[in-house]
Amino acid sequence: MSIDATHDPALPCFVASAAGHADFPIQNLPLGVFAPPDGKPRGGMAIGDAILDLSLAAPLLRGAAAEAAELAAAPQLNALLAAGAEARRALRAGVSALLSGADPRLPGLIRPARDCTLHLPCAIGDYTDFYAGIHHATNTGQMLRPENPLLPNYKYVPVAYHGRASSVRLSGMPVRRPHGQRKPAAAAAPEFGPSRNLDYELELGIWIGPGNEPGTPIPIGEAGAHIAGFCLLNDWSARDIQAWEYQPLGPFLAKNFATSISPWIVTAEAMAPFRAAQPPRPAGDPAPLPYLWDDADQAGGALDLDLSVALETSAMRAAGLAAQPLSRVNAQVLYWTVAQMVAHHASGGCDLRPGDLFGSGTLSGSEEDARGSLLEIIRGGRVPLSLPNGETRRFLEDGDRVIFTARATRSGFAPIGFGVCEAEVAPA
Ligand code: MN
Repeated sequence: MSIDATHDPALPCFVASAAGHADFPIQNLPLGVFAPPDGKPRGGMAIGDAILDLSLAAPLLRGAAAEAAELAAAPQLNALLAAGAEARRALRAGVSALLSGADPRLPGLIRPARDCTLHLPCAIGDYTDFYAGIHHATNTGQMLRPENPLLPNYKYVPVAYHGRASSVRLSGMPVRRPHGQRKPAAAAAPEFGPSRNLDYELELGIWIGPGNEPGTPIPIGEAGAHIAGFCLLNDWSARDIQAWEYQPLGPFLAKNFATSISPWIVTAEAMAPFRAAQPPRPAGDPAPLPYLWDDADQAGGALDLDLSVALETSAMRAAGLAAQPLSRVNAQVLYWTVAQMVAHHASGGCDLRPGDLFGSGTLSGSEEDARGSLLEIIRGGRVPLSLPNGETRRFLEDGDRVIFTARATRSGFAPIGFGVCEAEVAPA
């Protein structure tokens, strides 16, 4: 994962709004799918407050960069993700040089983002949700098993369940409160109705690039070559439905009604300056089994990325109040690296495919203000959340808008962001 000219913090950019942009300076160049007002969905790159149309840029690029831009002209980016790191790197280098230059054709390649409609970047074949945030696993385990919050497998297995790809929604689409079976502890039998305990989960999304053949595991040392990039992911969770249905096979209707993601794929190359060593395991924890251990992955397989959650209720919106920050957490809380997730997923012979999506698991830190779900903030329901305007919350109410953002900063580099992953809860 190398640093090159595209990461130079002094690069100029033809798009004026890219200079110092919180999310999309020229050092980011994330991939997505957009439709201009007069056209069909096609691949683009976010740059400042604008979008670069890759199909229009292709003739201005050369060699592998032009080939990659042509792949990105499709209404879904699966083919570009399949082409792997070399294609992404060539495209990034070509676009970086193009945007930092003064080609007279540049104005024709750029659209104001506000005029465009964003789409899901890929046809998502499969979606898998991990559980690698160890503080979240501990916090929620404590509610069920105070003596023994982490199950014995946790420090050996990157635990996950197979989620539902059909209901992955783009940021901005409302999320309808789901119906399901819920059974209060005191009730003799369950009833069917709208969830009363709707929650969010703050997660890092991971986009798979090149896949693997069925029955052919991905060695951990090669896992990085299969990771195309990252996004924000909200694993909406109906806690009352989950509590009743989850044993013995895990979440089902509690999770499968919706998963929200941010629109832009922040590439592995854009994140290169923000890699970090995987924090050492606490003394006494077992070492990962050999198929999950790689020296280079331990040395640079974590991501130094700050993720934040804010809540805007309908009353706050009506009063013109800003969204209330609820928590902020760094992705280095993950107990497993993304390479370990990929290697484990494929280790039994499962084939991953370009455009598959992983969730990291809920990101919570050890601090009070670093909890990635309401369930943890309200301590399982014991301590309501008080908002500055006098409202309180246990779980989400209709009209609540949940807003995720993420930002990577490191001395000597231009900070980059992920854009936003937000959605409003619609009535059942
Ligand atoms: Mn989750």
